[in-house]
Amino acid sequence: MESKEGKKIFRGVAIGRIRIFKKTQNQVERRKVENIQKELARYESAKQKAIDQLQTLYKKALKEVGEINAQIFEVHSMMLEDGDYNDSIHNLISTQGVNAEYAVATTGDNFSEMFANMDDEYFKARSIDIKDISERVIAILNGSDISSDIGEEPVIIAAEDLAPSETVQMDKEKLLGFITHLGSANSHTAILARTMGIPALIGIEIKSDWDGKMAVIDGYEGKLVIEPDEEILIKYEEQRKKDEEQKKLLLNLKGKENVTLSGKKINLYANIGDVSDLAAVLQNDAGGIGLFRSEFLYLEKKTFPTEEEQFLVYRQVAERMAGKKVIIRTLDIGADKQVDYFHLDKEDNPAMGYRAIRICLTQPEIFKTQLRALFRASNYGNIAVMYPMIISLEEVREIKKIVKEVKQELDKMGFPYGEVEQGIMIETPAAAIMSDVLAKEVDFFSIGTNDLTQYTLAIDRQNSKLDHFYNPHHEAVMRLIEFVVKNAHEAGIWAGVCGELGADIELTERFLEMGLDELSVSPKCILPVRKAIREIK
Ligand code: PEP
Ligand code: MG
Repeated sequence: MESKEGKKIFRGVAIGRIRIFKKTQNQVERRKVENIQKELARYESAKQKAIDQLQTLYKKALKEVGEINAQIFEVHSMMLEDGDYNDSIHNLISTQGVNAEYAVATTGDNFSEMFANMDDEYFKARSIDIKDISERVIAILNGSDISSDIGEEPVIIAAEDLAPSETVQMDKEKLLGFITHLGSANSHTAILARTMGIPALIGIEIKSDWDGKMAVIDGYEGKLVIEPDEEILIKYEEQRKKDEEQKKLLLNLKGKENVTLSGKKINLYANIGDVSDLAAVLQNDAGGIGLFRSEFLYLEKKTFPTEEEQFLVYRQVAERMAGKKVIIRTLDIGADKQVDYFHLDKEDNPAMGYRAIRICLTQPEIFKTQLRALFRASNYGNIAVMYPMIISLEEVREIKKIVKEVKQELDKMGFPYGEVEQGIMIETPAAAIMSDVLAKEVDFFSIGTNDLTQYTLAIDRQNSKLDHFYNPHHEAVMRLIEFVVKNAHEAGIWAGVCGELGADIELTERFLEMGLDELSVSPKCILPVRKAIREIK
């Protein structure tokens, strides 16, 4: 038994034999050609055939993985039509009198290297796309078509790298999972794996003698086990069965409305902490993202994430949610979420200390960097922003002033941004009690019942010794929620719950009666809550 660590792309378990995937290597020779015009026409015809193939792939992907993921093949088509790319190929053929294969391979290598050296992670990841389109044209010119035949038996594919076109062409029924050495978590192949729900790991050095060996991909822990023993196999088989049961539930309820038997509707959104949670969001058919805990971006780093880094993450989430609402909470550092580089002092009562919006309002540069990233990303989808730990009207006004400044800065720099709904979290008794006043200043309320309960009951949410005293259904909290919803509606704004209580199906009926407009729960709770809603009379 051998075990390897990799970067997890999709949470799930795959058990099966490994098959090493070898690319059809397109050997490219440099040849002199006599007839330049004929060679140019040969290239143009191969290019056209490649575009036709990409159209077919686009249609296949559209059916299997949806519009947003299928778009990569449209992008590939566009890349093939790109002026600079084509000029380079034409130039090489005309000025050096070389064969089309050589001109395409050289151009592909140059452009791919250029993208690989870019600072922007998004463009860096496009380097593989350039290689992919060039390989496609060369294969057509060579008469050897790109094949993604993976044989008869379902297998775990192991490859040095996989191009999106290779992944999507593989027969999903026979693809248990895949492991690659190269590729980034941002690559379209990784994105496709997540959307197709295929357990996958990257960053694993592939050994050729693994071909045909039994293996387990543990996409939860980011582990690959080669030749697992009996005990390990049984453990993973149980996990796999559990996952299957969950999937069945998903199949029955996917695409269905969150509506009671008497016709009352509610939005059901998902809570996430990271881009990697998006697969579960899509798989579980969430109507949007009700809480993106952006502080995890800060927690993962050794120093402040830059505006650009944050922008790329927010943009990716917005794009992948394809127009559905994505509510991003500005950073909620402090209390249990400590980050060294913030240099926060030790406090006697950190939960009631220097945290969240209090840090943002006293260190506006940190706040503004995040806001610029958020507003810039709003140009790529339906982003809403909400602010944590609010206790007063003054704070909200101060935030609005800063937001105004940020927008002016973006205008000056020429960055476009969309309409961004702005809301606050109601997670302190002060905010709940003042909710009639606060409702007039914002677009929505999202009730953070985790903290609202902690502060209302004066029970530290981290202290397990207090479990006995902790009643999550305490009437004081219920009354506050009801009060907040009423005040929101009177001011014409919507209100949701994004704390853990939102997923408590014992309360679903009561929440509907209160008139809550939205519940935001962890992705795996979407379908159980939907089931509960649909059973209410
Ligand atoms: C809450 O307090 O209910 C909430 C959703 O925020 P967090 O759990 O991140 O504090
Ligand atoms: Mg909170």
